[in-house]
Amino acid sequence: MKVLVPVKRVVDFNVKVRVKSDHTGVDIANVKMAMNPFDEIAMEEAVRLKEKGSAAEVIALSCGVTQCQETLRTALAIGADRGVLVHTDADLQPLAVAKLIAALVRREEPALVILGKQAIDDDANQTGQMLAAILDWPQATNANQVEVADGHVQVRREVDGGLETVRLTLPAVITVDLRLNEPRYVTLPNIMKAKKKPVATLSPEDLGVDVAPRLKTLQVTEPPARQAGITVPDVAALVDKLKNEAKVA
Ligand code: AMP
Repeated sequence: MKVLVPVKRVVDFNVKVRVKSDHTGVDIANVKMAMNPFDEIAMEEAVRLKEKGSAAEVIALSCGVTQCQETLRTALAIGADRGVLVHTDADLQPLAVAKLIAALVRREEPALVILGKQAIDDDANQTGQMLAAILDWPQATNANQVEVADGHVQVRREVDGGLETVRLTLPAVITVDLRLNEPRYVTLPNIMKAKKKPVATLSPEDLGVDVAPRLKTLQVTEPPARQAGITVPDVAALVDKLKNEAKVA
């Protein structure tokens, strides 16, 4: 079976982002970019399925600007067999990405699409769910264990206050949570090998998808600055402050 893994190029998780002075968004000029961390976990899981013999081919897909090719190269270095770039300079919202992935699914016919549960830039947590709805496929979100067998996939999900195990009939959509696996370290030989793997480029028009934004961002602001803490001399002073100032019962 084929597995498709959509990977997003986002601001690196170590970067402290700044809001633009006109409050239209976050400034990403000259900022380090990287693969969305949840997508690394999704790619790692797909490659493990291939190594176990459950998957025959792993395809990485990235939608966005030319530099998404770097994100695809990282995916190929983790172990994807080939990449697809859907090239556009448009501001892509989750619905547009879900439609692009769905269009590629119709061409490639994977049995499984594994996505990150959310992209750490917009924190939308929507693309996987929208994709499953468009394709009318079963979905399991927030996976922390994935087992494929006989036309089914069993997924253990992280839910409020515990874990839930569901069994889906393939083809299906899975979005992954943080504890599913620990992505492998990308080695230099694998980076070199990745350079030889094929990457195809398509446009949204090739896939017949209108990517025009449906939502308008009105304003982006910094969270309020946290007030500085204080140091108390001893436990008695701490208890006094908790009782009399914080009014802890
Ligand atoms: P979101 O719904 O934006 O939080 O993103 C959830 C997941 O959808 C990500 O972890 C990726 O797997 C996928 N995704 C979102 N945007 C893109 C994109 N531009 N290219 C490829 N995959 C994407």
